[in-house]
Amino acid sequence: MRIDILTLFPEMCNAVINESIIGRAQKKCAIEVFCHQIRDYANDKHNRVDDTVYGPGMGMLMMAEPIAVCFEALCEELSDRPRLVYMSPQGKALTQQKAEELSKFKNLTVLCGHYEGVDERFIEEFVDEEISIGDYVLTGGELPALVLVDAVIRMVPGVLSDDICFKEESHYNGFLEYPQYTKPAVWRGKEVPEVLLSGHHENIEKWRREQSRLRTKLKRPDLFEKLNLPENQEKELFH
Ligand code: SAM
Repeated sequence: MRIDILTLFPEMCNAVINESIIGRAQKKCAIEVFCHQIRDYANDKHNRVDDTVYGPGMGMLMMAEPIAVCFEALCEELSDRPRLVYMSPQGKALTQQKAEELSKFKNLTVLCGHYEGVDERFIEEFVDEEISIGDYVLTGGELPALVLVDAVIRMVPGVLSDDICFKEESHYNGFLEYPQYTKPAVWRGKEVPEVLLSGHHENIEKWRREQSRLRTKLKRPDLFEKLNLPENQEKELFH
């Protein structure tokens, strides 16, 4: 999979995409991530990419043309029209399901807004979908883009050591993950649950399933509600 980030602050993105799991995944060639400076596609001598908003009020807006030229150059380089996502507080919320869906695209492009955002005409003409990382407003789309890229990349086959790494994690199947423990078996008087030391795989699986349901119900009743479990299974949780 290839991901391209269109931004006015490529250094911000490069600092993250070359580190840790994303950096290693690129070395293993499972994925490629590139950042593009939109300013390089500006068409005046001052490399201007923003201008004042029409109508009363303050603030600058990213102009449509430099982003369009940047995206068109990318399409030409790829000989493909990648899926274009615009990070925006007005978009649909990023979920695990959305990350998995996006991980199936061969080419994905992520546009980061700045200032007041992006001229609406660019969004109408080019953007396939707007995605938000939460109901709050940040100064720019770089942090949201990196959140999206991280969530998407770990679902690409070959990036994590095994698919089980993400399939058992919180949100993949609608549940939160069960509690986990490492050595020592007793820490400051607190013991690891006995079943985990038993070596009995079937019992451990059953315990994990129950814990997963229980903590989803307690920590995120909104998610639990959506799972619509049959009443008898709900009752089992507290016995
Ligand atoms: N004027 C816009 C509005 O009220 O909808 C907000 C613009 S915001 C200050 C600047 C840029 O940050 C946006 O264009 C977007 O790319 C990014 N951004 C801010 N909050 C975001 C969020 N919650 N999710 C995704 N992107 C966000």
